[in-house]
Amino acid sequence: MTALADIRARMGGSDARLIAVSKTFAADAVRPLLAEGQRVFGENRVQEAAAKWPALRAEFEDVALHLIGPLQTNKAAAAVALFDAIHTIDRPRVAAAVAHAMAESGRRPELFVQVNIGREKQKAGVAPEELAALLDTCRHTLDLAIAGLMCIPPMGDDARPHFEALAELARAHGVTRLSMGMSADFEVALAAGATDIRIGSALFGQR
Ligand SMILES: *Cc1c(COP(=O)(O)O)cnc(C)c1O
Repeated sequence: MTALADIRARMGGSDARLIAVSKTFAADAVRPLLAEGQRVFGENRVQEAAAKWPALRAEFEDVALHLIGPLQTNKAAAAVALFDAIHTIDRPRVAAAVAHAMAESGRRPELFVQVNIGREKQKAGVAPEELAALLDTCRHTLDLAIAGLMCIPPMGDDARPHFEALAELARAHGVTRLSMGMSADFEVALAAGATDIRIGSALFGQR
């Protein structure tokens, strides 16, 4: 069984979106997954994705690319041009830069707000208690539709309560998509309601 078939089997019939995280892997490592029919991929750097994906996309036009790494305001235009979804909106300035790039380009990537669910000092993401204000800015000041929430639980923690907390925030704030779960914990995330799982090493090997 291929790694992709194994993940699909472990998803147990879930219709969650499987994002194959190809960061650090070259186009040659991505091709076997494309050949198996995988079409949704995640990258964490705008520049790396811009170098890798245009050539592959010329061959596979139905590929969808998701930005899952931190976004700087000065990369917002490039990100909106390249990606079909952005999972890492986490402050008003980034949201405003994305809104501006969307207005300029006419593109409409699906947007997620990243929540710092473990309240870690160095971690990206909006603090849970600031989520309501950020969503309000997105929706009412910037006219940005937010599809869902994304989180990365603290390393070493039991992920389940963090996934359940993100699901509760999504319910409370009226967003439907939940981007949560990676190679080590996606089954736990699916049980908590994940709609988008982000799988890297279990598909591509160790980075
Ligand atoms: C790298 C990365 C992943 C994939 O992690 P694996 O443990 O390799 O599956 C998922 N989400 C984000 C935000 C990442 O940066």
